[in-house]
Amino acid sequence: MAKVSIGLRGWRFDEDVVFDEDGSVGDVAGMPEDTRNRLLRLSALLGEPCSACWLVHGEDDVEQCNMGDVVYGEPLAEVLLCTEHEPDFVYWFQEEGGSAYAGSGTLQDEFFEWFAEGNRAPESFGSVDHVDEAPDDLPDPMAADRLDEVAEQAATLKEEEEEALDLDLDGLDV
Ligand SMILES: [Zn+2]
Repeated sequence: MAKVSIGLRGWRFDEDVVFDEDGSVGDVAGMPEDTRNRLLRLSALLGEPCSACWLVHGEDDVEQCNMGDVVYGEPLAEVLLCTEHEPDFVYWFQEEGGSAYAGSGTLQDEFFEWFAEGNRAPESFGSVDHVDEAPDDLPDPMAADRLDEVAEQAATLKEEEEEALDLDLDGLDV
């Protein structure tokens, strides 16, 4: 099964699970829970500022923040990063014990704490080169448009099935 990123790098989805045969987004409510949660969260994250920029600039200077390009972690405990700050996260994850929080609800808090203390990846760590390592991991710009379909379904879901969802979609916006 082909894996695709949608809108942002990072989270990847089984193409066959997310899209119908005609290429449109399938019934989100009928998708496996993890897929559904990530898709719905993704539709909320697109266009939001990078978490690290946010920590640096804060709400008063939100226009100084870059938009997020890549998302790591679990929905609602995710870390949304711009390309500039991605190496800081990857460094923390690989070299500073961050991987211990993989798949947990505390990944975001732990990274934020480390970053807020002024820690950064050393310059020698370099940038994260996705193009060479994983050419398939680049998001399909067409697929980003399809997030509109997810957002529409999310709006419907919120009305009809809000209590059935494990996520509070209004909570924890970056
Ligand atoms: Zn940033």
